Amino acid sequence: MFTAPLTASTRAQTGASKIANWRFQKLFEDADAMSIQGYLRDGTVVYWNRASETIYGYSAAEAIGGNLLDLIIPAEMRAPVEGAVRWMFETGQAIPPSRMTLRHKDGHGVPVYSSHTVVSIPGQPPVMFCMDSDMSALAKAEDDLRIAATAFESQQGMSITNADSVILRVNLAFTQITGYSAVEAVGQHSRLLASGSHDAAFYNAMKEDIAQQGSWQGEIWNRRKNGEVYPEWLTVSAVKDTNGLVTHYVSIFSDISARKVAEDQIKALAFYDPLTRLPNRRFLLDRMEQAHANCARRAGQGALLFVDLDNFKTLNDTAGYVQGDLLLELVASRLSACMRENDTVARLGSDEFVVLLEYLGENELDAAKEARSVGEKIRHALSQTYTLGVFEHHSTASIGIALFGAEQPETTAEPLKRAELAMYQAKTAGRNTIRFFDPQMQAEVTQRAGLENDLREALNQQQFLLYYQAQVTSDGRLTGAEALVRWQHPQRGLVSPAEFIPLAEDTGLILPLGQWVLETACAQLAKWAAQPDFSHLTLAVNVSAKQFREDKFVPQLMDLLARTGANPKRLKLELTESILVNDADAVTAKMTALKACGVGFSLDDFGTGYSSLSYLKRLPLDQLKIDQGFVKNILTDTNDAAIARMVVALADSMGLAVIAEGVETQAQKEFLAHIGCHAYQGYFFSRPIALADFEKFAQQEH
Ligand code: C2E
Ligand code: MG
Ligand code: MG
Repeated sequence: MFTAPLTASTRAQTGASKIANWRFQKLFEDADAMSIQGYLRDGTVVYWNRASETIYGYSAAEAIGGNLLDLIIPAEMRAPVEGAVRWMFETGQAIPPSRMTLRHKDGHGVPVYSSHTVVSIPGQPPVMFCMDSDMSALAKAEDDLRIAATAFESQQGMSITNADSVILRVNLAFTQITGYSAVEAVGQHSRLLASGSHDAAFYNAMKEDIAQQGSWQGEIWNRRKNGEVYPEWLTVSAVKDTNGLVTHYVSIFSDISARKVAEDQIKALAFYDPLTRLPNRRFLLDRMEQAHANCARRAGQGALLFVDLDNFKTLNDTAGYVQGDLLLELVASRLSACMRENDTVARLGSDEFVVLLEYLGENELDAAKEARSVGEKIRHALSQTYTLGVFEHHSTASIGIALFGAEQPETTAEPLKRAELAMYQAKTAGRNTIRFFDPQMQAEVTQRAGLENDLREALNQQQFLLYYQAQVTSDGRLTGAEALVRWQHPQRGLVSPAEFIPLAEDTGLILPLGQWVLETACAQLAKWAAQPDFSHLTLAVNVSAKQFREDKFVPQLMDLLARTGANPKRLKLELTESILVNDADAVTAKMTALKACGVGFSLDDFGTGYSSLSYLKRLPLDQLKIDQGFVKNILTDTNDAAIARMVVALADSMGLAVIAEGVETQAQKEFLAHIGCHAYQGYFFSRPIALADFEKFAQQEH
């Protein structure tokens, strides 16, 4: 045999053994794929072939003379390796070959398949040879396989077919989704799963995509083994060989029936009212669009019926929501029962329902008649007694009808708005009734909308101005004026407040407008204060209830007085009785606060409201203003005269001043003086006039 070849002590050799050694040495050296190392009993390296250099990173020069344990054995393996080496040297036997991971010079693990042998030559120290084949590539391939196998058994169904679409392999999820076991599926053509829902063109397009882009994905309906057709999301990829020829197809799919169900539910939620299961507003608008198109094409008429339950809120408030819901469900089913096949009943929200009659023929009058008769049917059906649990309930409905079709509306929702307006008319007309939308009504609404826009614009453009109407005493003395706002409309000229104040109140524009009036009036008072002709004059300013109810009204006015320097004692706020409707305590507190600063209060239009005397008594008023309505016929109408008398007496008893407005004649003035009213305002003295005119008037009077 041979001796441990390369150690320095065994270099000198002769004859045949030398040649044999040389041969083995060459063989060992050239064993490219196999690392061969030789060790002495204590682990000293005595041989290290070229492959060892590659696999473990140490050159022979570095390794030889070093110790096995220090070089390539990872720390945690030292003890067992030491034991195994000792055992081999003692018994002269080899431990069985095994896979282990040794250590490269740079520290990374090297998976190897390692076999060992101990060679003993008499007279020489025994040497243990280790023969390690590098398993890195194999280990990686094994890893890849394991990963692929795990991936294949994923949650998604997978199948692999050959180029002819014959199934070669399927995974567990495939079986779970399709119902076919691997045994049943393998060997079958993939059309086994086809549901018949797609035509040849569909499959051709799919093939085309795969041919061109290498894959296809999309939604497809397949059939399970039990016959059930289900939707799946499928990706098919072609596997090509090195020549670019398709060898296999890999299909990955997931069952999306659950997602489809969820989608359907979402759709139901989006288009139907969950309580009554009637179509909702969105659905209705969609149908209306179709109905419009239909009517336009056939030059015909359709109708919308807006149905609103009367006093539904009362039921909700008194009997509770459960009863309310119950009623709504019953109403929904009664409405549905009144419908013809093509009509739509929708619930817009709370107690509002809409019936869409899609086509009622070409003649407008006939269409209107038909719509009314459906409306009557509904009204009748909804006014029958309802049984809500153990209760009997009576309810009625107000119905507004709008026809559509003659001309194309501006928006799809337009007829809906019209029907709603008509419904409000029905409510105003006493409920449980039907009203048609008519163009006159529309004109008013349009004009109002236009006016509202103009009003906003007017505030920006400062188109408002104040007129002043004199307030005088019976001996002809001018005490001041009432400031009355005017709108200098660019097209319409001077617009009366009677026309725009109510709208300003509805829209909240009264707040900025009222503030502007107060600012202008206070600035005017401050100017007058510096002019002897006018310094004694007071200004009465109308304050809307909405404006006065604002939390910041008092601080804002105080700030304004301070800013302008106007004397609060010359400012008189005209309030109307409507201010007392809500929260008289808060009103009283505000009035008291302002009064403490010197601001005065007059109760405008007195006698037209419903204020209770006990309230009135608590208010820190200064003056009552007899409404012009009583003054007008004071000489002829004994009732009006009696009321005027009563107001004067009331003012006297409460220690308040009194003034009459709307005084147009000498006779009226004299009558008022006769009953004890000595302050007046009216055309008899002066109309409301512009500032310059008023100042002239004041100078003449003075
Ligand atoms: P009001 O406060 O009762 O004002 C008196 C109204 O009677 C004024 O109408 C005035 O022009 C009119 N008038 C005065 N004397 C006579 C007369 O002898 N005969 C007749 N037939 N009418 C007379 P105007 O200016 O059209 O104002 C109407 C209402 O608009 C006011 O009634 C008041 O409620 C409201 N208003 C006017 N300016 C303002 C304001 O700045 N703010 C608020 N919130 N409302 C205002
Ligand atoms: Mg007034
Ligand atoms: Mg008045």
